[in-house]
Amino acid sequence: AKLAGRDTICFHDDATQALMEARNETRRDLRLALQRGEFRLVYQLQYDADHRPLGAEALIRWQHPSRGMVSPAEFIPLAEESGLIVPLGDWVLEQACRQLVAWQQQVATAHLTLAVNVSARQFKEPDFVERIERVLTTSGADPHRLKLELTESSLLDDVEAGIDKMRRLKRLGIRFALDDFGTGYSSLQYLKRLPLDQIKIDQSFVNDLLLSGDDMAIVRTIIAMGVSLQLEVVAEGVETAHQLGWLVEAGCHVFQGYYFCKPLPIDQIELPFTSIPVS
Ligand code: C2E
Ligand code: CA
Ligand code: CA
Ligand code: CA
Repeated sequence: AKLAGRDTICFHDDATQALMEARNETRRDLRLALQRGEFRLVYQLQYDADHRPLGAEALIRWQHPSRGMVSPAEFIPLAEESGLIVPLGDWVLEQACRQLVAWQQQVATAHLTLAVNVSARQFKEPDFVERIERVLTTSGADPHRLKLELTESSLLDDVEAGIDKMRRLKRLGIRFALDDFGTGYSSLQYLKRLPLDQIKIDQSFVNDLLLSGDDMAIVRTIIAMGVSLQLEVVAEGVETAHQLGWLVEAGCHVFQGYYFCKPLPIDQIELPFTSIPVS
């Protein structure tokens, strides 16, 4: 029994060691990847209850030369730790704004919004507002079409400073969504103070929606909260018609998920706009 115990500990040490080495390698690779242009954005459309596309969320992808596609869930936390998220975040914003400008130039797509994920570390940079202003000015993107997705952790240690930044950006026309809603500890009191436009129900609640009475109750509560604060409620991770039907019935406003489409490179996105008359 003693030997087995020692073996187990040894196994854990090796595994931890290997994991740490892999992380260090990823950290080193990340720095080069930005210079080498290994990142790209994919876009996932968002729809209203009538299946009309309202816009998209931009999601980053890393095409690693030897490892293939690396998930943002793996490298974003490392980029946050090392601070690389700041230049990487700038790159994401530049690409996203470039896409917005392309949409703005076509009547059929001019109304589409684009949501960009902003990490906590990026949002906490003292010059975050100036960085956004710079990207908007150089790209010519309409701030009214840009949405920034924050998480509760973005606002955690200095709510006042966060609210101030949000207000300054809102004056430009930028909109805000609170991502992964329901996984943190937001009270209604706290939520009321944030100048938000949308809350996004975390997909973990949507996944098990029709299997779990608890999740149904949670989602109903989130929608009620959103409605009472006059916020748009977005459901992400919608995978089935059944989930969609339930969410529409429950009063959710915006829908995103594999049921409609996966995140795709821009040239693979089909926007059914031919039916919209050009006036
Ligand atoms: P998130 O912002 O919560 O994004 C939603 C995630 O759910 C995306 O994963 C998306 O591909 C996935 N998803 C969408 N629809 C479905 C569905 O129907 N079913 C399931 N199972 N999943 C669905 P992805 O692209 O792997 O991104 C993971 C996370 O990485 C994001 O979570 C976000 O936190 C972060 N991230 C992605 N791009 C960026 C970025 O440009 N900047 C920052 N800071 N973070 C990013
Ligand atoms: Ca998001
Ligand atoms: Ca989310
Ligand atoms: Ca997430």
